[in-house]
This record gives sequence, C-alpha cells and structure tokens, in this order.
Amino acid sequence: QTAAHSPAQASAKPKPAMRKDGKISMKHNHPPPPLVMKSDKKSYTRKNVLGEGGFAVCYEVVDEKGNTYAAKVVSKQSLKGEKQRSKLIGEIKIQKSLHHQNIVRFYDVFEDSENVYMIIEICRNNTLVELLKKRKRLTEPEVRFYMLQLIDATIYMHKKHVIHRDLKLGNLLLDDNMDLKIADFGLAAMIQHEGERKKTICGTPNYIAPEVLFDSGKGHSYEVDIWSLGVIMYTLLVGKPPFQTREVEAIYKKIKENNYSFPPDLIISDNAKQLISQILDKVPENRPTLEEMRRHPFLTTQPIPKFIPKSAFTTIPEFT
Ligand code: ADP
Repeated sequence: QTAAHSPAQASAKPKPAMRKDGKISMKHNHPPPPLVMKSDKKSYTRKNVLGEGGFAVCYEVVDEKGNTYAAKVVSKQSLKGEKQRSKLIGEIKIQKSLHHQNIVRFYDVFEDSENVYMIIEICRNNTLVELLKKRKRLTEPEVRFYMLQLIDATIYMHKKHVIHRDLKLGNLLLDDNMDLKIADFGLAAMIQHEGERKKTICGTPNYIAPEVLFDSGKGHSYEVDIWSLGVIMYTLLVGKPPFQTREVEAIYKKIKENNYSFPPDLIISDNAKQLISQILDKVPENRPTLEEMRRHPFLTTQPIPKFIPKSAFTTIPEFT
C-alpha cells in the first residue's frame, strides 16, 4: 500500500470542477480556485463554471458592487515551459490594449501561488459555433449583422497593429444582447513596424490562410485575418467550412488548390458568393481591404437587422 491510499491523502486529492450542467469536468483535474478571488483592489466571488478550454477554466464571478464578469483561471502548473508562459503574457498585453464594443474587454489580472486570474467581459450566449449548430446555417441578414460587427472590430484591431491569427466561429462569443465579441488572443501578434512580416505557422486548419501554410519565405501579415473572415462568412451561410474534409492534410491540399464550391441546392445571393470569392483569393494582396469589404453590395444594398433576438438559437428570426 502506498501513502496515496490513506484516507487523509485521498480526501486531499483535487476535486474536479463541477459544471453548470451538473457534469463533472475531467479535463482540468486540479482543485477549483478559491470561492473569493482577490486582486489588490477588488474581490470577485466565484459562481458557476462557464466553460473550459485547453488551458483555462472560466467561471462566472461577481464583484462587491454586483457587477458580473468572467474569470479565466489558468493553473500555473499547466503552464509548462517558457513558450506557454510567454503566450499567456502576450495574450494579456494585447487584450488589455484593445477597447472596442466587439472585442471581449479585459478588466483585471492577478495571481496567487496556484493560478493566474483574468477578469474579462462575460458573454453568456456561447459562441457562433453553438448558434450555427442549433440553426445549421444563418440567414443573409444575420450574416450581414455579424460580418459588419466582425469587420468593425478587425479594422480597430489592425489599426492597433494587432493580427488575431485565429479568427474562427469558436472565438466569436455572443453577449447577453447577442452581439459578437472577438475572444482568445492567444495566437495574436503585434506588428512592430510597417512592413514587418510574421513567420510563425499558427491558426486552426479550416481557417488558416494559404500563405501561412505554404510560406515561400515572405511571411504573412494582416491579410490572414481577412482570409479567416471569408471562411467565417462562407461557414455561416453554408453550414460548414469551405475546405472541410476529414483529414487535416486533405484540408491543406484543398486550401492550396483553392478548391471549394457552393452547394448547388442552397440559395445564396450572387452578392454573397462574389464577396466570399474575392476574399478567398490565394494571393493576399488581391483580397479586398476591410474598408472595401464594408462597402461591398452584400453589406450595403440590403437592410441590416437592428439586433439579433435570443430566439435565433431555436427559430429563424424574421426581420421586417
Ligand atoms: P483556452 O484559452 O484555455 O482555450 P478559452 O478562452 O477557450 O480557454 O475559455 C474556455 C471556455 O470558457 C470557452 O470555451 C467558453 O465556453 C468559456 N468562456 C471563455 N471566455 C468567456 C467569456 N468571456 N464569457 C463567458 N464564457 C467564456
């Protein structure tokens, strides 16, 4: 018998986090953070689990004034190696500098011996992944609504010299008003000087731009986010990403060959198809700029919904 089997040891074993839906989280097998998380200035009381990612567990928290936030908790133990630590520091630095209505706001960061705590804006309606899963695909007015918010936030980000590099449905959160908020700056990069090119290969297979995958030595820049916007727009209208296949290698081959098409049985406007095909150009310089996208007929000739109702999760909204 080893010591680990004694009752005292067993009860000291970390308890897995209990999720909102009552299921036990198996991913992050370390103790839950303290009930009250304290920074220098404020304390935040922990409520239920909002979700879990690769590194973080997110909790709903409330400050002394009753304001609700999301607390992203990353255990220091899970941050092995310098690379992961610098990724987190970079993410914090970048997110702190961005103040836009369609970018998840960063409020506070602090740590104790166990964890790093990030207090961010809470977005209670999940992400566009969940919305699309429920609906299969969105209507063109809804796509216009979300693309405009996304373009606005990306214009702001690029003006601040930040490339997100991982724009995808799962990183587009929905707040209480069903407005879009860009999240997860873990792969974002700052452009330090005009004309600087980035060399790190990163992104998510379905959304990754061809010049990142098949770098001819030139590196990549802001246009990789524009490519991702094209993939996002296609996915919202069609219900699956343009280069989707089972094998990752086959996805890359399709991206290289620019091999995608619109399912013939779907009714998609010519304006929408034209905008997508302009964006999904293999040559980064040929893609429209964000300002050009915003002026495109798809986004300017039809009315834009004032808001998206929460009922959009279950029924197709009608806009009058
Ligand atoms: P990681 O960087 O470890 O992947 P994420 O940023 O993806 O962590 O966060 C993990 C999960 O927590 C997300 O999948 C989502 O369900 C939830 N989450 C993240 N940020 C928020 C937020 N601002 N509001 C509400 N839930 C959030």
